[in-house]
Amino acid sequence: MEMHINSDDRAIAIFSHDMKLILQNDCFREYTRIILGRKIEDEFDLLWEDKAFAVIKDSIPALKKKKGRTNSISYVDGRTFKISLNVFGNEGFSISIEDISDSKNSSLIKQEMTSNISHEFRTPITGIMGYMETLANHPEMDEQRRNQYIQRAYAQSKRLADLVVDLSLISKAESASASIPREEINILEICEEVFSEFTEKFAEKNILVENNISQALIIKGNHSLIHSIFRNMVENSLKYAGESIKIHLENYYEDEEKLYFHYYDTGVGIEQKHLPRIFERFYRVTGGRSRDDGGSGLGLAIVKNAIAFHGGTIRALNRKGGGLQFLFTLNKS
Ligand code: ADP
Repeated sequence: MEMHINSDDRAIAIFSHDMKLILQNDCFREYTRIILGRKIEDEFDLLWEDKAFAVIKDSIPALKKKKGRTNSISYVDGRTFKISLNVFGNEGFSISIEDISDSKNSSLIKQEMTSNISHEFRTPITGIMGYMETLANHPEMDEQRRNQYIQRAYAQSKRLADLVVDLSLISKAESASASIPREEINILEICEEVFSEFTEKFAEKNILVENNISQALIIKGNHSLIHSIFRNMVENSLKYAGESIKIHLENYYEDEEKLYFHYYDTGVGIEQKHLPRIFERFYRVTGGRSRDDGGSGLGLAIVKNAIAFHGGTIRALNRKGGGLQFLFTLNKS
């Protein structure tokens, strides 16, 4: 068996019914190291914390009943991996990984988006259904409790609505870019709009904002996409960077073609091993362990797409003094 899987071109691993690794080939070792950003020796549980593998794991129970296959896609550093699951009834399962970077076809990517999306949607939908069912079945519930359930169901439905907005922004910038309207927009105005949206939250968290965009910067672009670039960065600093920090934004350079921006916060930053992946769709640093920060991992994917739509590029780096910084450009027209 070992010889057989080692001679296979694909990365293959075989697991027992209780998710224990039985056998893996060298190629599997290499691809999981690339996908996870580190070598996994004995800590195989790390695999299931990765988005693409979590999708695979979630589909195991259904496939146990009805033998079959399922796929998921992982994008890493410009490479595309197709991860396939093959379940052998109750006996166990195998996972294979193929590098399809050169041959990635759009139907596969659509399929992966669909499975990631349903994975993300399941949590709020299950939540809402649960709260509603309890409310319907317990008319005697006291008012305080009832309000609590209604508020929770509302929060989950808001999360669903946010997801829908995020996803439509991504597909808009990607596939329908020709039809996105461009108009003259004032970046300073948009940034002021974004910062004022969060004034109360800044006060709550003792966050100081330094907006050094001092003059009206006019570019030809799309208002809602530019707005989402700045809103996502600021919202992330609020969600992840911590309290009593500083947020800084400036346009530090300009040439004929482009505007150059520097955004940073002085918060906790991001562990180096995660940095190359934070612009991937659905990638979250907290992984599967904690999902309660309300994030979907789409924020920075939107930022990157929106910047690309405006002819720019973005880089993320940790700051020497602590915190996360972004250097990005936007075309003027
Ligand atoms: P989400 O939409 O879930 O907020 P993002 O794509 O915006 O996800 O960000 C990806 C991950 O990067 C987040 O899960 C978060 O852990 C991390 N992150 C983003 N911005 C910051 C920041 N300013 N400071 C620390 N961590 C951050």
